[in-house]
Amino acid sequence: MEHLNPGSPRACHEDAEPLDLVCVGAGAKGVAVAAKVHALNSCTDMGLRVAVVDAVAPGAHWRGDSGFTSGHETLGTRPEKDVGFPYRSERSFPRVHEALNDEMIRLSWARYLIDRTGYSGWVDAGVQGVTHRRFAEYLSWVVERATNGISHLTERVTRVDRVDDALWTVTTVAPGGAVRTITARAVMVTGPGAVRALDVEPSAAHLVLDARSPRDALAALGRAGARVCVVGAGESASSAALAIAASTTQRLHIELMTSGLVASRAESPVENRVYSDPESVDWSRRSEHERRHFIRRTDRGVISGDAVARLMNDDRVVLTEGRVLSVWERDGRAVVRVRRGEQISDVPFDAVVNCTGFDAAEGVRALLGPTTEVALEAMLEVPLADVAEHGALAHDLALRGVTPPLFVPALAGFAQGPGFANLSSLGLMSDRVVAAVAARRARRGAPVGGLASVDARRGVADAVLR
Ligand SMILES: Cc1cc2nc3c(=O)[nH]c(=O)nc-3n(C[C@H](O)[C@H](O)[C@H](O)COP(=O)(O)OP(=O)(O)OC[C@H]3O[C@@H](n4cnc5c(N)ncnc54)[C@H](O)[C@@H]3O)c2cc1C
Repeated sequence: MEHLNPGSPRACHEDAEPLDLVCVGAGAKGVAVAAKVHALNSCTDMGLRVAVVDAVAPGAHWRGDSGFTSGHETLGTRPEKDVGFPYRSERSFPRVHEALNDEMIRLSWARYLIDRTGYSGWVDAGVQGVTHRRFAEYLSWVVERATNGISHLTERVTRVDRVDDALWTVTTVAPGGAVRTITARAVMVTGPGAVRALDVEPSAAHLVLDARSPRDALAALGRAGARVCVVGAGESASSAALAIAASTTQRLHIELMTSGLVASRAESPVENRVYSDPESVDWSRRSEHERRHFIRRTDRGVISGDAVARLMNDDRVVLTEGRVLSVWERDGRAVVRVRRGEQISDVPFDAVVNCTGFDAAEGVRALLGPTTEVALEAMLEVPLADVAEHGALAHDLALRGVTPPLFVPALAGFAQGPGFANLSSLGLMSDRVVAAVAARRARRGAPVGGLASVDARRGVADAVLR
């Protein structure tokens, strides 16, 4: 993927004018933001300039060749919850929301299927859920079309530095090793973040895989008839267990070890409304207890219904309650120390898969240069590691108090609405981020489209945002 528009590969850093936004990652969220910027630029004179940078490809984590999934599993969330869903831009773009929706519909799931002559087949088959790989194909299709003002770059972001109150620099490395520095007025970090650590003795490290491990490595365990402990009970744990189980019909033993009961992803009409329209239930003003309980029950450490059914129907998969304390090696096997109530026991396995979850804040921290990390900690009133827990995410899904804006939707579930952390309201997420980026451009009186006078530019911004 190297669609560079506007401009050449060098345009990003050699342009006098910094970009309005750099988005780290072209997964579901990065693509949703690209779609909204494209749509806004197509129906107004805003002329936002954005780079969406992905180390691998659009939807890499859904394709099946970058860990996380085999690609064959069914997406728990309905595909109609596409990059534009819920198509309710009136709050963020009151003056142009109808035109914006018209543009966004061109990038919808239904439009994708029609384009691929698959729409009638999908409807006739009963509007089934889709595989992760199909979802990735849809995201790639959106990327091909979301081009107005967007540079799509296949490069790894290695560092994000704060220059001053107004600018970030984002350093990237291309697959061939070329380094680029992009200057931008705002940054959005996407993706699940860092894998949460498990206490593993170095001698056992080669016996421990994790959620990002290639599916071939997991399948090899299955083909060897291994006895495997999958630690965790969320989407990545179920994905790992299914990948191992699907590799063979022979005997094997997969133990899904979790400290509580297994819960399935909840997307009933009530939960869906909270995801799609958190303001309608006054989410941000609800008690901390109520919000935490909702997220724990519906989104964190939960497994999609289809995956739960497949796991429960495979008698080689056992769900075990217990807290894994540590892992070490004995006679070539991984010994897992487990606490169950007051009891502690050591259980030998051939391999362990660490699916204890991800730390999105650590994912952000890992990208920050040392002085930027210090500056951020000073601007935030809480440690970066605790921002989600403390609800330190603003309405626009940026870290509260940090300038220039650093948007991290994955951390905003507790503060702003549970759908911002998952796939359930990609359109609402992009409304909030893109409206904030557009408002900053308007406040600067920056060039809007081809309009020369500052008054005319502000007029366009007013017409869009107010
Ligand atoms: C197996 C599985 C199933 C899931 N099912 C559901 C579900 O049904 N419904 C739901 O709501 N949520 C689900 N989730 C959670 C879901 O992953 C997140 O809600 C959502 O994908 C987050 O979107 P994202 O765009 O932030 O990240 P991703 O879709 O993970 O995309 C992140 C992108 O960033 C890129 N990237 C990472 N680091 C860099 C870097 N340094 N430089 C450049 N690019 C980088 C990656 O290549 C990747 O393409 C599931 C998670 C897993 C693991």
